Parts: sequence; structure tokens; C-alpha cells
Amino acid sequence: MKISELPVDGRIKKVILERGIEELYPPQAEALKSGVLEGKNLVLAIPTASGKTLVSEIVMLNKLLKEGGKAVYLVPLKALAEEKYREFKEWERLGIRVAATTGDYDSTDEWLGKYDIIVATAEKFDSLLRHGARWIDKVKLVVADEVHLLGSYDRGATLEMILTHLMDKAQILALSATVGNAEELAEWLNAELIVSDWRPVELRKGIFHLGTLFWEDGKIDRYPENWYSLVVDAVKRGKGALVFVNTRRSAEKEAIALSKLVSGYLTKPEKRALENLASQLERNPTSEKLKKALKGGVAFHHAGLSRVERTLIEDAFREGLVKVITATPTLSAGLNLPAFRVVIRDTKRYSNFGWVDIPVLEIQQMMGRAGRPKYDKVGEAIIVARTENPKKLMERYVHGKPEKLFSMLANEQAFRSQVLALITNFGVRNFQELVNFLSKTFYAHQRGDTLSLEYKAKDIVYFLIENEFIDIDLENNFIPLPLGKRTSHLYIDPLTAKKFKDAFPKLEKNPNPFGIFQLIAATPDMATLTVRRGEMEDYLDLAYELEEKLYTGIPYYEDSRFQGFLSQVKTAKVLLDWINEVPEVRIYETYNVDPGDLYRILELADWLMYSLIELYKLFEPKGDVLQYLRDLHLRLRHGVREELLELVKLPNIGRKRARALYNAGFRNVEAILTAKPRDLLQVEGIGLKILEDIYKHLGVEHTLEVKEKPKKKGNLYDYLK
Ligand code: ADP
Repeated sequence: MKISELPVDGRIKKVILERGIEELYPPQAEALKSGVLEGKNLVLAIPTASGKTLVSEIVMLNKLLKEGGKAVYLVPLKALAEEKYREFKEWERLGIRVAATTGDYDSTDEWLGKYDIIVATAEKFDSLLRHGARWIDKVKLVVADEVHLLGSYDRGATLEMILTHLMDKAQILALSATVGNAEELAEWLNAELIVSDWRPVELRKGIFHLGTLFWEDGKIDRYPENWYSLVVDAVKRGKGALVFVNTRRSAEKEAIALSKLVSGYLTKPEKRALENLASQLERNPTSEKLKKALKGGVAFHHAGLSRVERTLIEDAFREGLVKVITATPTLSAGLNLPAFRVVIRDTKRYSNFGWVDIPVLEIQQMMGRAGRPKYDKVGEAIIVARTENPKKLMERYVHGKPEKLFSMLANEQAFRSQVLALITNFGVRNFQELVNFLSKTFYAHQRGDTLSLEYKAKDIVYFLIENEFIDIDLENNFIPLPLGKRTSHLYIDPLTAKKFKDAFPKLEKNPNPFGIFQLIAATPDMATLTVRRGEMEDYLDLAYELEEKLYTGIPYYEDSRFQGFLSQVKTAKVLLDWINEVPEVRIYETYNVDPGDLYRILELADWLMYSLIELYKLFEPKGDVLQYLRDLHLRLRHGVREELLELVKLPNIGRKRARALYNAGFRNVEAILTAKPRDLLQVEGIGLKILEDIYKHLGVEHTLEVKEKPKKKGNLYDYLK
């Protein structure tokens, strides 16, 4: 179908035509003929890069221009929210306002009321629903990207609940990878279903075994025995490759090994550009490895990288400067990074249950990254059979069907939090109403009943009553209590809130960072660091040494909580180092963590510290303890000792600049106010722009001028001339 023939507002067509798109891909045309433009729900299950985003844009714009209201676009990752936000910004030409929202779960974000398209992570949107933002009623369309994540253990329940809440109130467009039971999903959502395996670039799949490449069509190619040859061959032909492996360390190791082989094919200007790229990285153990790999035109990509590093690599790969990326499967989830050839080194990964096969759905997502539209006629996806039987791999991953999706609502932690929210935020008044709601979920649709879910819900309701999150009256009606309401708004697990509440009496008597950090690390909402065998004794020693600071006993060695406890101690120790201004590099080295891990831990700890304070306020807080907690929160946020607290409140002053100012003798705002600007500019990290912002923040332009230049008005630049 031609874009010009689309039955939508001409302005929408104009924008798309200006992108250089004149014709819809076949599944896009099918999707838009399904009734979705007239308001019907739709499940669209087609491969990556076959144009789901464009379909969603047309549906959103059509709806917004015709009916007004708002469209919400749900994504699984923050990075994706940014990507989509940038894409959708283009529609501002038509007067459509676009916003993205990801962080801060304790807010109604009323400012979003001004926007028409709102891109949000599922968790953020769930929290907005709980807060009952006024603009929610105006949402007329929800696009759920990567809806197959409904089947993911830790994220699935959130998405399922959002869709259950909104299915009768808004139109739903669910975008999915190919899954085994798309029909079931569509039935649940009362949606039309379009399934297709059409791709804009042909995909050729094969299995590589000891130098022989068996293509799915029976053809055979020969290569040198080692699978590296597949990658080198792609580079030799002027193309790129993506290599998927199962651990971060493998990604690093293979990147460095491949870099030596690939570097011979780089031109001199490319080498210079890569050197330049490498020099932009900060200094830490991970980026040292990355620099090594980059010199040969290869990079690795995994969750341990910092955001800056990740973006740098992604951009360089898109530009063709980086020829090869070795990655853990996180890369295959969502990011738009295709390559001519995809090589999958591992089809197994280590889990709590030992080695398990990676699901077909995931391997097919990785394979789907092969072939760059516009550049490649065909993309190649090759699985390496190392110890596995190549025939079996061919059957399972090349010819096999992806798994079915299963509801993950019964995941205890997620469900506990959702049941509380239903009672405190969504007006569920009694158990019967709770059951009524549950009967609308995918879980109920799939199982045919909600019996086992009801048992779980009952246990949870008891737990909530017992711990004073809710109460129940004589007619068995639920009464939300302040603790319950606040917990739900803070978007934390009720179990986390209970742990905090139980610890408050001890905390009040002995507020200290180590005790508080261990408490935070012991909650189910926190991620903790793994303790290796060789480290166990150290952390046990540390725990004994600081025992009187803890709000919990030290479990015995045989106790099932022992290992977890040591991880909490290690995590608390990292946070302790952080607020004592230990440099990041030292933290990475000492605790064997990657920058991405530290960032994640700090982000979670920040949110939990905030939540702890908010909950403490409900229990007749003591003023001095509250102030102590607030100061500690600020120290945690900025990674500073107490003496820098005043300085980090200034704009753009983080732990490094604050320390530099302090050490140079500018120990507080007063000292900055009385200092000469040129002296302040001597301090490392303090440039003109920063200083201007500080003065602006302090509102001292006037003071400065009066003191130094009484008559003439001017800005800081004039003054320094
Ligand atoms: P998906 O969301 O399915 O992974 P995208 O919507 O991101 O895929 O589309 C992948 C690329 O294909 C984008 O660069 C997009 O601009 C382009 N594209 C989408 N539809 C068409 C079309 N009909 N003709 C040409 N290019 C298209």
C-alpha cells in the first residue's frame, strides 16, 4: 500500500513521505487495515526491524488528530524511552507534544498533562496509575512495545496489570516479537491479530560446526575451524558483525581476541578515529579493556558499562567505525543495532538451576538483528555449535517455534505489591472485588480460573492486615491504612516497608550508615553484589567488627540466609566507601564491580533511602533522627562526606568539584560568596559556566557588582575582563 493511499490525515502522510518512506511494508499495510485506525485493539507480532514503530506512529497520530486525548507508549527500558522520544519528537511539527518519563516513582507528574504522546517505562507508568494523575483519564491509546515481556519473570506482572487496568478504558496496540501463543494474547486483549515473518531484509540462518557452515537451505560453506573466521570474513567483506555470548567476561575476552584479528583490516584514518574514540573513555578497569578492543575496531557491550560508554559504542557501530560488537543478550532486547552478520556463540547460560538452554524466543531475537535495511540484501545469522550437536541446534533454533508466553502474575514479590495497590489505589473494596479484578487478567484467561491466584492473594491480604498496611471492617471491607497507601505510592514491595518499619526502633537508638545500608541491602527491592568464595571470610569479619552497628543479628553459617547476608554486607560496604569519597576506580577494583553495577546500586539505594525516610515520617519521627537520615540521603546521592553537604547543594557540584573547592579552602557557601571569582576559577573543575550557575543559584550577581564594580551593571564575563 502506498503511503498516499492511507486513510489518515494528510499531514501525517506528509511527514512520513518526507522521511523517504513511500510504501508500507506488507505487514504494516495489513496491520493498518485491521481496524486499528477505527479504534480496534491490535496485537502485532512481526520480526524486529519490520516497521512496528511506524505502525504505532500512524495509529497514535491518527487517534490524536481525530479525537484528541493522549497516547502512552510503554517501553521496557530507560534507554528505549529515550530512543523513542527522539523519534517521536518529529511529530511536534504537527503541534503534537511529546514527553518521556522514567525515574521518580513517587510523583503524579502533573506536568505530563500538557503532553499528547507520553513515552514511559512500564514501571513508571504503573506508578503514575497508582498516584492517580489527573491526566490518566485522557489516555485514549496505549502502545505496549515488546509486549512478549509479559512472560518475563520479574517484569511481566507490571505490564499485565497495566493492560488489565486499561483494557476497557483505552485502545490497545500491543507490539510483540513472534511468540508461540500470540492468539491467546489477542483473545485476552479482545484484539485483532497480525502475525507475520516478513522481513525487510532476507534472513539466512545457519549452524557452524568446526569449520563447516550448514545453511538452513542445505547449502554448505567451508571456513577455517575457529568461529572467529566468520567474524573476520564479514569484516573483510566490508561489513559488520554482532557476536552474542553468555557472560560479560566472555564478551570482554572475545572482543580483545577478535580485535587482534580485525585490526589488520582497518585503514589508517579508521585507526586514528578509533584511538580518538578510546581516548574519550574515562579510566577504570572496564574501559581499559574496552580501549584495548577498540584499537582493533571491536567493542564489547554489556550491562556493566556506564551509559556514556554504551552510547559511544552504539554510535560508533552505527557509523561503521566499530566493526564488531561482542555482547551479552541484553543488547538483543530492543536496541536498534543491526549488523550484516550475527554470530551466536552460546545457546546455554548459567542460572540458579545450573546450565539451561536459552529460550528459542531469545535466540530468534538475536538472529533477527542480522541484516541492515538499505545496506544489505541479505542478513546472516549463524549459531556456533561447540559441544552441542549441530543438527539439534538447527531443529531447535532455526526450524523450531518460539515458546508460549505465560503469565508471571503469580510471582510472589510482584503480586504482593500489586494486591496492595489494588486495595489502596484502585478502589478494590473487598476480597470479592479483588477476585473480580483478577478474573480479567491474562493469568485467568490462560488458566481458565484464578483459584491458585486467589490462595496467594488470601495469604497476601493476611500479611497486609497483620502488618498494618490495611485493615478490615466487620463487613469484611478493606480499609487502606497510611502505611499501605504510602508504600504503594513509593512503589516498593510491602516486604521492604515491613523490614524498614521493624527496624525503626533500633535505628532510632543507633542511627549509623552501615546499619542503614545493610538494612536497605536486605530488602527485596535492592540488588546486591555477589560474594565470591575467597571473599566470604572478609565480609564475615567485617560484619563481626561492626556488629553493634547492625539492626539485625548475624546468621549462622548453616542458615540459608547466610550467603545473602554476606552479599548485603558487601553491598553496604560499597555504599559506605561511596559516601566516604573513595574514588570510583578504587571501588571497581576493590569489589570487582563494573561501572554499570555501581550505578545501578546507587540508583536503587537512593530510591530506597528516600522511601525509608518517607515511611519513618509516618511513625512519630524524632526531629534529629529525621535530619540525620536526610543528610545521609544527600551524602548517598552525591557520594560525599558530611563536610561537603553544603557544597553539593549547589548546581553542577558533584563529589569531585565539591572536594576540590573544599580542599582549596572554600568550605561553604559563605566562603564562596566572599571569594574572588578568579580564585574560584583556579579550582579544578570550576569553569566560567559553572561559576555563573553558582552565582545565579545564590542570586549574588548584585552583591558581586556592588562589591567589586559598584556602578556598572554587567555579567560575569564583563566583570572578569
Ligand atoms: P521495529 O520497531 O519493528 O523493530 P522500526 O519501526 O524501528 O522496526 O523500523 C526499522 C526501520 O525501518 C526504521 O529505520 C524505519 O524508518 C524503517 N521503515 C519502517 N517502515 C518502513 C517502510 N514502509 N519503508 C521503508 N522503511 C521503513
